[in-house]
This record gives sequence, structure tokens and C-alpha cells, in this order.
Amino acid sequence: MDCKEFMLQIWTLMDAEPDERAWASLRAHLENCPLCQRHYRFETVLRVHVRQSCAEPAPELLRRRIRRFIAELGDA
Ligand SMILES: [Zn+2]
Repeated sequence: MDCKEFMLQIWTLMDAEPDERAWASLRAHLENCPLCQRHYRFETVLRVHVRQSCAEPAPELLRRRIRRFIAELGDA
């Protein structure tokens, strides 16, 4: 999994039912990727999101940040 795939999968999972196996692979990427770690404290965000995702849509701010990060990766 590369960084772009990582971000796209987070994007998808935010709108989907929590899928523990998918989240686990995302966390595995994050643990080994200083780039993603530096951009966002996703481990914390994901934990919060996994807890809340049954009740609440993902925050619009987080969506915007992900969209921007994907755009940055696309230009790299
Ligand atoms: Zn990454």
C-alpha cells in the first residue's frame, strides 16, 4: 500500500461500515510511513472515528484535509 492508496482507503472507509481488517491494514501503513504520520495524526483520528462512525458522519474538516493531501500526492 502506498500513501495515495492509504488516503483513498481512509476516504472510502469514512463513508462505509467499519471494517476491522481494512482499518488494520491502514494502521499498518501508518506505523511504517513517516510521511503520513507527519501530515496527520491519523492513528488518533482513526480511533476516534471508528468509535463514532456508527453515529456520525466524518467531520468535513477531515474530509477536506484528506482531499488536499491526495491532491498533493498527485502532484508529487
Ligand atoms: Zn504513507
